[in-house]
Amino acid sequence: MSKDILSLMGKNVCMKRHSALSSKTKTPASILGKAGATLVEELKGWDISLDCISDMPPKIQNDQESFKVAGFDLDGTLILTKSGSTFPKHERDWKWFDTNTIRKLQELASQDYLIVVFSNQGGFPVKSTSKRFLQFVTKWNEIRRQLEELDSNFQDRIFMIAAPKVNLEEPPKYRKPEIGMWNYFLERVQVPCSSPKDAKNIDLSSSFFVGDAAGRKTDFSDSDKAFAQTIGIQFQTPETFFRK
Ligand SMILES: [Mg+2]
Repeated sequence: MSKDILSLMGKNVCMKRHSALSSKTKTPASILGKAGATLVEELKGWDISLDCISDMPPKIQNDQESFKVAGFDLDGTLILTKSGSTFPKHERDWKWFDTNTIRKLQELASQDYLIVVFSNQGGFPVKSTSKRFLQFVTKWNEIRRQLEELDSNFQDRIFMIAAPKVNLEEPPKYRKPEIGMWNYFLERVQVPCSSPKDAKNIDLSSSFFVGDAAGRKTDFSDSDKAFAQTIGIQFQTPETFFRK
């Protein structure tokens, strides 16, 4: 078996860190090679395929009868660039959307919400040579680490699901406004259902999604709003959620 990341990803192999990489014969370096050591390190805990990447465990346990989901977009919603540019210049080019952001997230965590980020990341493909791929994974790891260090309530409660750049000929089922990322999430919380509205152990009336693509005059799109509407959960803009 070839051990470079391109051949691995070319076969669309799903890399489940907790299982595959715990094997003595398949260390991160042996799978991705020396050149990808930094990337491999940053990908600990991530589940990787060409059209969807996630930082969340394969199974989510829950003490409650049903899950309440606080969904967020990432860029322009949870965070902004520090530099003020549309796209981050490097992995440290981010700041919280508002001074309230962390406090609001803490409130949600203390109320037993699962905090799930659903993010379109069309700026990079899943590829070992993509700097932006590495930057994105590194940035998210740092964001999650900061939150978990601040408040243990965030542990096993804050997750990332992202849709990277894919071949345009493929239907973009994971990209918002499509709800492939939500369906991926449902699989992880073990909800066999044909429609999001039939998901028995998701409390849809308490769940919501916050995003900056809301179809307002200056918005580039309404994909966040449409995403929430298709799922059947409340939608809010980041301005309303964090600043009012
Ligand atoms: Mg956004």
